[in-house]
Amino acid sequence: MDDKEPQAARERLEAELAEAMAELDRLEQKLQVEVEYGLGEGDPIIYEREMNMALRRRARRKINSLQEALKRFEDGTYGICERCGREISAPRLEALPEARLCINCAQQAGR
Ligand SMILES: [Zn+2]
Repeated sequence: MDDKEPQAARERLEAELAEAMAELDRLEQKLQVEVEYGLGEGDPIIYEREMNMALRRRARRKINSLQEALKRFEDGTYGICERCGREISAPRLEALPEARLCINCAQQAGR
């Protein structure tokens, strides 16, 4: 990693965090509105609501891991595998900026 990269990665994390929070906000609002309608059994809106709830869970998880990744930046442990202590490869961080494990450990951990 050269000097510029960590900063770029951090900016990316912050951008993704802002995006995930906007997404969560949007879903919260959607879920809020739907409650007020009063749902009937078999209503297609129930399906949509369940989907939105799943998306909301996912957005929350994403926000959590992004926040943790940003915290690791403060600690200076960002990009270091939590399991084997080796550097996580740049392409992997590119694809998954909140990665906590290197590709080998991630495969062993089954994720
Ligand atoms: Zn590892």
